[in-house]
Amino acid sequence: MAVIKLHVKKDDLVMVVAGKDKGKSGKVLRVLPEKSRVLVENLNVVKRHTRPSQANNEGGIIEKEAPIAISNLMIMCEKCDGPVRMGKRLLEDGRRVRTCRQCGDQLDR
Ligand SMILES: [Zn+2]
Repeated sequence: MAVIKLHVKKDDLVMVVAGKDKGKSGKVLRVLPEKSRVLVENLNVVKRHTRPSQANNEGGIIEKEAPIAISNLMIMCEKCDGPVRMGKRLLEDGRRVRTCRQCGDQLDR
């Protein structure tokens, strides 16, 4: 059982609500539960200088997403076309799904 409850999962659409990328949205690439951070596609991109290595002979500058604190993110509802609060619903088959509190749409597919 997971100890830490995270409100976002891989492939979720999220919006940044604080920090330098505020107002931007993207798809969750990876969740880092132990750090309470997530990697979001094309967001919080940082340039890193790399040394030549076996994998990359030239070395140089690579652009890479840096993890964003989960507290700075909100889940997006496609129907509401914006960041929304999340609710939970128990389906008839016993599954728990995340829902949009605004329109009631299911966020888990
Ligand atoms: Zn909605």
